[in-house]
Amino acid sequence: MSLLIVNGRVVDPANGVDVIQDVLVTNGRIAKLGGGLKAPAATETIDATGKVVCPGLIDMHVHLREPGREEDETIATGTAAALAGGVTSVACMPNTEPAIDTQAAAEFVHLQAQRARNANVFPVGAVTKGREGKELAEIGGLVEGGAVGFTDDGSPVVNSEIMRRAMEYCKMFDKAVLSHSEDLELSKNGVMNEGFESMRLGLRGYPAVAEEVMVYREIALARLTGARVHILHVSSAGSVELVRRGKEQGVRVTGEACPHHFTLTDECLRTYDSNFKMSPPLRTRLDVEAILDGLRDGTIDVLSTDHAPHAPEKKMRELDQAPNGIIGLETFLPICIKGLIEPGVLSWPKMLEKMTINPARVLGIDRGTLRPGAVADVTIIDPDVEWTIDPHQFRSKSRNCPFAGWKVRGRARATIVGGDVKFEH
Ligand SMILES: [Zn+2]
Ligand SMILES: [Zn+2]
Repeated sequence: MSLLIVNGRVVDPANGVDVIQDVLVTNGRIAKLGGGLKAPAATETIDATGKVVCPGLIDMHVHLREPGREEDETIATGTAAALAGGVTSVACMPNTEPAIDTQAAAEFVHLQAQRARNANVFPVGAVTKGREGKELAEIGGLVEGGAVGFTDDGSPVVNSEIMRRAMEYCKMFDKAVLSHSEDLELSKNGVMNEGFESMRLGLRGYPAVAEEVMVYREIALARLTGARVHILHVSSAGSVELVRRGKEQGVRVTGEACPHHFTLTDECLRTYDSNFKMSPPLRTRLDVEAILDGLRDGTIDVLSTDHAPHAPEKKMRELDQAPNGIIGLETFLPICIKGLIEPGVLSWPKMLEKMTINPARVLGIDRGTLRPGAVADVTIIDPDVEWTIDPHQFRSKSRNCPFAGWKVRGRARATIVGGDVKFEH
């Protein structure tokens, strides 16, 4: 069975491709790119005129909640949400219950993903057993079970000596350590960014420096060990600058930004709506500008969602009681278009680079390109369609979205995984 996608704007940042042409897929792989391709017999054809055709989007920061918190999300519902958002691969965080800290746990994720037959799922292993920060997890076994990186996300690795050893181990397997950078003493009981707005609202602050001291530590340890470190959800101007300087000095550090951190600010908390509560928190206009600069100059390599589902009854608690996090898979593309393409911060190829080949490189996975021979994970985007975000339409089990009611432009028209059209809008 073959699939021919004709006349789309094919953008493959890994190979510097940005041209109107056709893409032929056979046996689940990219066969050929070019103009006026002839379809073999029994070929399905998709007319992509006026559409962007790119490698399937990769969201390397997703919480799928299974096992343990299936009331918030499951591997099946989370990957269905991914497909609807044009995402063909997700890396899922290990802060499940129990944590993904053994080979068997990573294999369970793979098994459930195979059963769901939606997007590809690449598990990220825990750095420490039970994410308790005391003892290293079975790094080697987790790699064997398919773990593509290591993190205790949701929490930092508090003990610097354990983090140093984690980096030394991960380097042996050429895996990146993904850092949730937070000094828990400085951020303690913080509900929102510490600053003018928190003072005005009388809410306890989580200062930017709580993030920055840990970003500094991670970069220092990466310099010492030669390991690769990826700073998750960079939220502050100071963190952007630290990653920039680390790169200049040759440290193997990459940075990641989430759409909410460059489209919203702490002023949103004036509504006391818990859908604006996440960790790290929304910060100030200056931080937003710094993240946009970091995206522009390449300091920030990766766009991801930090998709963090919570069942409505949990998010409906008072602001200081409500859990951190928002969902993002089904708003990833339009919010990035609104925040990055529309104001001219990034071009389509530059934005898609941070959603395809760059996360693939951080994770060391064979995805994120339309090179002939590659697995045919393809997203077809309608860049012009206007729509209004309505969380009740989402495939995700949860509804904790801060963008409800936003008028946006652009969405996935078709999501193709391994040559199969898994989603069409
Ligand atoms: Zn985190
Ligand atoms: Zn996270």
